[in-house]
Amino acid sequence: MDTTHPKDLAAVLARFVSVWSSSATADHAAPALTCMELDALLELFVTVGALDAAAEWMDAHTVNEPECEGHFVPGTPPNRPTMPL
Ligand SMILES: [Zn+2]
Repeated sequence: MDTTHPKDLAAVLARFVSVWSSSATADHAAPALTCMELDALLELFVTVGALDAAAEWMDAHTVNEPECEGHFVPGTPPNRPTMPL
């Protein structure tokens, strides 16, 4: 059941991006995320045009994730290993 009004959804997304695009938040939380969790967040940021936030989270995630070889970015070839941000 979808009860979210489109205007409410836009406001919710704007608030989410505003809060979660903080570099301090990215530095604190991104290293703790799995690659799949980060991909879901990156997809949201890229979809709403928050490319700087996506880059911040990607950088913060890979600093302490030596096993991570990169993340898929929607709209890019599937095997592209890094974000073009
Ligand atoms: Zn990763």
